[in-house]
Amino acid sequence: MNYISTRGDQSPKRFCDILLEGLAPDGGLYLPDHYPEVDAATLSRWRDVYHQQGYAELAFEVLSLYIDDIPPADLKVLCAKTYTVEVFGTGEIVPLRHLENGIWLEALSNGPTLAFKDMAMQLLGNLFEYELARRGEELNILGATSGDTGSAAEYAMRGKKGVRVFMTSPQGRMSPFQQAQMFSLMDDNIFNIAVDGVFDDCQDMVKAVSNDLEFKRRYKIGTVNSINWARLLAQVVYYFAGYFQATQSNAEKVSFTVPSGNFGNVCAGHVARMMGLPVAHLVVATNENDVLDEFFKTGVYRVRASADTHETSSPSMDISKASNFERFVFDLLGRDGARTKALFGEALSRVGFFDLEAHPAFSQAASRYGFVSGKSTHADRLSTIKDTWERHGMMIDTHTADGVKVAREHLQTGVPMIVLETALPIKFAATIVEATGQQPDRPAKFIGIEDRSKRVMSMAADAQAIKTYIADKCS
Ligand SMILES: *Cc1c(COP(=O)(O)O)cnc(C)c1O
Repeated sequence: MNYISTRGDQSPKRFCDILLEGLAPDGGLYLPDHYPEVDAATLSRWRDVYHQQGYAELAFEVLSLYIDDIPPADLKVLCAKTYTVEVFGTGEIVPLRHLENGIWLEALSNGPTLAFKDMAMQLLGNLFEYELARRGEELNILGATSGDTGSAAEYAMRGKKGVRVFMTSPQGRMSPFQQAQMFSLMDDNIFNIAVDGVFDDCQDMVKAVSNDLEFKRRYKIGTVNSINWARLLAQVVYYFAGYFQATQSNAEKVSFTVPSGNFGNVCAGHVARMMGLPVAHLVVATNENDVLDEFFKTGVYRVRASADTHETSSPSMDISKASNFERFVFDLLGRDGARTKALFGEALSRVGFFDLEAHPAFSQAASRYGFVSGKSTHADRLSTIKDTWERHGMMIDTHTADGVKVAREHLQTGVPMIVLETALPIKFAATIVEATGQQPDRPAKFIGIEDRSKRVMSMAADAQAIKTYIADKCS
C-alpha cells in the first residue's frame, strides 16, 4: 500500500515512512492511494473473527490491509499487546449498550485516560516503540494540550523505549482531574511543562521549536497530532466492531453519530464506509463551534478566528478549523489534489473560507458519502444528560450528549443508530452535576488521584526556555 498527499504529491510512501511524519512535504495530509475493498465473504469472516477471536485480531485484519512494511507476525503481536482487557476494561474492548429506541452507545472511552483518543494512541505508542527500535532511532514528542490529547499521548508513551514526551499545557487551565491524570505520571520519559499563559501560547512555543529546523533535526522532534494517519487507521477498526455488535447479518445497515471536532473520528468512519462497511449515514455532531455543521448544511467551509471560537462544556470539540477535513474534501472532489490545494492551501489562507455549494460534488456529500450533520448547545447538552439520567439511569459525558442530541434528529426506522461515546462523565464532572445534581461515578483506579504527588515543571511562555529544557533532558 502506498500513501499520497491530498495536495497532489504522488511520490509514493509506505506506512512506516509516514508513521513518524506529520504533514506531507507539500502541506497536505497522507491518505492511502486506494481504499481496499472488503467484500461480503471478508465481512462475514471478520464478524466471526471479532466475536470468536476478539478485537485485537479484528484490528490485525484491518490494519494489515494498510500496513505491508511490518511483518504480519509482528503486527499481530503489536495489536495483541495494545487491545487487552487490562488496558480497556472489557473483552469486547468497545462494548455496545442500548440507550433507547433505535439508539446504541459504543463505549470507546474505557482506556487509561477515559477518552476515545486512547483507542488510537495506545496503538501508536506500540508502533512508535517498534519502528524506532528497528531503525535504532529516538524521538522526542513535543506537544501542546488543553486536556485529552496530552494525557492520551502520555499514557500511550510512558515507559516506551526510544520515546520522550514533552507536553506543554496552560498553567491552571485544565480541570483538577485532568491535571492529576497527567502530572501524577512519574515515568522517566514523560515531562510535563505548565506554561505561564493560555493554550495558544503553548502552541506558539511548539511551533517555534518545530520551525527551528536545525533544532528539530538535532533533537528528533516529532508530534502525535490528530492528522497522523496511523491514529486515523486505528479508529477504523471500531466502526467494524460496532457494526458487528449492532447487527446479526451483513444485509443490515447501521448509522453512526460522531461527536466531532477535528474530524479525525468521523473520517475513520468515512474510510470504513469506503471499504464497504454497510453504513447508511455518518452523522457529524458539533457543539457551538459549528464549522462542520455549517459546511454540511450550506457547502461553505469557514475557518473561525480565535476570538470566534467558543469555550464550551464539551471542550474537546472546541475547534476553529477541522484539521482532518481536508481528507474528506479530497475524496469528495474525486481525489483532485490540485483543487484540494487551491481550497486548503490557498483560499483558506487568503480569505478564510471556501464555498462548494455550486460545485456538483457538494450534493454527493450526503447522497454518495452518507454525511449529514447537526449541532448541540450547552442547554441541549444539559437537557440531554438530565434526560438520559432520569429516564434511563445512564450518565453520559458532555461530548457524547452532543452526539445523542443530534442522533435523535437523524433516526431512521429499521436502521440502528450507533452513537460513539467519546469520554466518560467523570472527566467533565462539573457539567454533569449542573445537569443532574449528581456526581458521576469514578472508576476505582482514579479514586484519590488528585491527592497523588505531582511532577510538573513551570515555565515562562518562551520558546528558548523549552529548547534549553529539551536539550538538557536529552544530554
Ligand atoms: C478529541 C475528542 C473529540 C473530537 O474528535 P475529533 O476526532 O477531533 O473529531 C470528541 N470528544 C472527545 C471526548 C474528544 O476527546
